[in-house]
Amino acid sequence: MSLKKVIGQPKAIAMLLGMIQRHRIASSYLFCGEPGIGKKLTAIHFAKALNCLNAGDRAQGRKDAEATNENESGDGDACDVCTSCTKIDAGIHPDFLMVEPEDRIIKIDEIRMIEEALSYKPFEGRRKVIIIDEAESMNISAANAFLKTLEEPPADSVVILITARPGVLPDTVRSRCSRINFYPLSDDSCRQVLAGRYAGGDLALAVTLSMGRPGSAHTNDLREERDWFIDHLKNMLKAGKDGWTSREDMDRWFDQAVIIFRDLAALKITGASQIINIDLQDYLSELSKSVDLNVIIDLYQELNLVQGQLVYNLNKSITWNYTASLLRKGLSH
Ligand SMILES: [Zn+2]
Repeated sequence: MSLKKVIGQPKAIAMLLGMIQRHRIASSYLFCGEPGIGKKLTAIHFAKALNCLNAGDRAQGRKDAEATNENESGDGDACDVCTSCTKIDAGIHPDFLMVEPEDRIIKIDEIRMIEEALSYKPFEGRRKVIIIDEAESMNISAANAFLKTLEEPPADSVVILITARPGVLPDTVRSRCSRINFYPLSDDSCRQVLAGRYAGGDLALAVTLSMGRPGSAHTNDLREERDWFIDHLKNMLKAGKDGWTSREDMDRWFDQAVIIFRDLAALKITGASQIINIDLQDYLSELSKSVDLNVIIDLYQELNLVQGQLVYNLNKSITWNYTASLLRKGLSH
């Protein structure tokens, strides 16, 4: 796959290709947008384009021996077939490094590893490319150490920070990156992405439930995920014990909560025609029957607030009890 084949992010892709064509590559980028909309995919293809033997910055250090010249358009995009592109796809290119949080945190050790990697010139590519996924997971000492790298970027290097929560990153880090915004996909684009995995009615439901974030449909079965959420919601309303088994569960639960509360608000405002979980209409109507719209909006905002705090490693059972009591207070009648 190449940059041009990334579905549903035409603005971001046009900006990145334009930068390659004009030889205006920044030393650091911040890819912002909700989870599951193609940020990491784009970052990988950008790395390929920057180092592709058949495209990109042809002026510099091109190792022509292997070039197959299949990309005749000269638009700077990745060719997808040269050894550089295939090595990046396989994660074995010596000038390509992907960093992800471990146990939800990117620690200073990983930043040291990045510094180390950046201290060498590119081995075989034109540019070293480092991708830091879920960059908001950098703890404070990691972010401080990383700032030095951003302030004095080594030549021939590109660092791409990926985040769904740019607000959590320190201003000092954010302000040194070129920001590229990604947006939820249209239903048509979602359908294109999901068509390889679902068909017929399942495809239609997957498109609706993905809410413009088809990447989340790839990692979880959306209906199962939602039903899991509803089970826990019912448990909370009955004052049941902490049912989350991990930190991951907390994230999953709050991701779903936002969707369900949008539906509860939609039911109040426009009735069933605007809700996403149409098959849950009866349950949701019952749940919100004697609840005021303002209460639902307040609850939605409170849940958003708690979700925003999850990066600070909130205690699981305290969060469960707190959230459950908020819900019981708001929704009980
Ligand atoms: Zn290539």
